Amino acid sequence: MERVHVVGGGLAGSEAAFALAERGLAVVLHEMRPRRMTPAHTSDRLAELVCSNSLGGETRTNAKGLLQAELRAAGSLVMAAADAARLPAGGALAVDRELFSGFVTERIEAHPRIEVVREEVVELPGDRPLVLATGPLTSDPLAGDLQARLGEPFLSFYDAAAPVVLGESINMDVCYRAGRYEQDADYTNCPMTEEEYRRFHRAIAEARRHTPHDWEKIEFFEGCMPIEELARRGYQTPLFGPLKPVGLLDPRSGERPFAVVQLRQEDREGRMWSLVGFQTGLKWGDQKEIVRLIPGLERAEIVRYGVMHRNTYLNAPRVLNERLDLEKLPGVFVAGVLAGVEGYLESAATGWLAAQQAAALVQGRTPPGPPPPESMLGGLVRFLATANPSDFQPMNANWGLVPPVGGRMPRREKRARMFERGLAAFAGWLRREDMSRV
Ligand SMILES: Cc1cc2nc3c(=O)[nH]c(=O)nc-3n(C[C@H](O)[C@H](O)[C@H](O)COP(=O)(O)OP(=O)(O)OC[C@H]3O[C@@H](n4cnc5c(N)ncnc54)[C@H](O)[C@@H]3O)c2cc1C
Repeated sequence: MERVHVVGGGLAGSEAAFALAERGLAVVLHEMRPRRMTPAHTSDRLAELVCSNSLGGETRTNAKGLLQAELRAAGSLVMAAADAARLPAGGALAVDRELFSGFVTERIEAHPRIEVVREEVVELPGDRPLVLATGPLTSDPLAGDLQARLGEPFLSFYDAAAPVVLGESINMDVCYRAGRYEQDADYTNCPMTEEEYRRFHRAIAEARRHTPHDWEKIEFFEGCMPIEELARRGYQTPLFGPLKPVGLLDPRSGERPFAVVQLRQEDREGRMWSLVGFQTGLKWGDQKEIVRLIPGLERAEIVRYGVMHRNTYLNAPRVLNERLDLEKLPGVFVAGVLAGVEGYLESAATGWLAAQQAAALVQGRTPPGPPPPESMLGGLVRFLATANPSDFQPMNANWGLVPPVGGRMPRREKRARMFERGLAAFAGWLRREDMSRV
């Protein structure tokens, strides 16, 4: 029987291997631990949770909750493990990490169609289809090989991300569209008075930084200095950098603001906007307070926080399509953080989807199209394929990935409707594509 190879036994690779095997295929899962450890993993278990033991909120108004529900409908191994290892945690899905990864390891190792090979893969295997899921800490030889095959700009080795806010939460009575150059009015600008800037600068200078592990630390290049470091260098420094007001006249007053924070569109539809030049390693609570000090963002909903840490990921919109297939290397399906998603669930979900694509190829079926745009997984893979490729950063499940529902109603009600709509669309897609709990 033809065997499908999956490289990396983390969240994405474990889910992919299990899904392929449940489709009736023989699978070889390559995992380098314990022979070779990553700087963050501490065990030889598959699907080890390297940090938090939470898989996110699980209420029926939560974006991560929708992805959990979709994964359950798809028969996910990671969700079965989460249910078996669940701990009480209010509205969040928290798990006992040992039980969780123990469950996944046991189910995979006991599966009659899965062989687990404990070895480091140092170059891209020639087998097609192939599922590649080596994660944010992909070992150096394989990362080097990938970079050589795809070209220099397509693989990043660290994540220096700025916060991203939901477009609908920006107050456009305060902000305005303009660019520094006439032909590029694509930016949304948040103007600041001198007093507002002073308050903002003080808040950044006093904010708490996330303390990275040694191996997580990245060297700052002048071009991607964290905003807190710029602020620390001096009161004026950000005014000559990302907050420079030059060329950004406020059309309502015709005057130049004292400082301007610019927002750049992250997705094709303009549902998500990132703060230009605001890469930051500040603690998330402090980021929220600081973002909300920016005029026009007082009620901003942050859908992705800024981070600065080591991370290996592809520039997905340049190299991947919605089927998670590498355009340059057809038949190589990429999943997890390497594919440009962030988070345990997101990694597992793309692992499951990559497996469905690979299975269809081996079994001579028409590969399933991407999940519907209203579903969280559909929104996520569309984002990967179509996001703004300049300065692409990995993305987690959030409500900016799916179309909003129309009409005036409280935010909670909107989210509840988006949840039910997304789950119904996803379930319908599973049935149409003949993938309901295969
Ligand atoms: C330090 C850190 C903390 C994080 N904290 C969180 C968090 O709290 N919550 C959250 O949702 N997300 C977190 N993430 C982000 C991400 O969701 C997780 O890293 C998640 O595990 C990613 O899943 P993955 O399958 O892509 O990668 P992983 O789960 O890391 O799996 C990749 C696997 O591939 C193996 N591997 C690597 N290279 C090779 C090779 N050459 N040959 C064979 N095997 C190889 C690795 O040993 C690993 O087992 C964190 C990431 C990092 C780096």
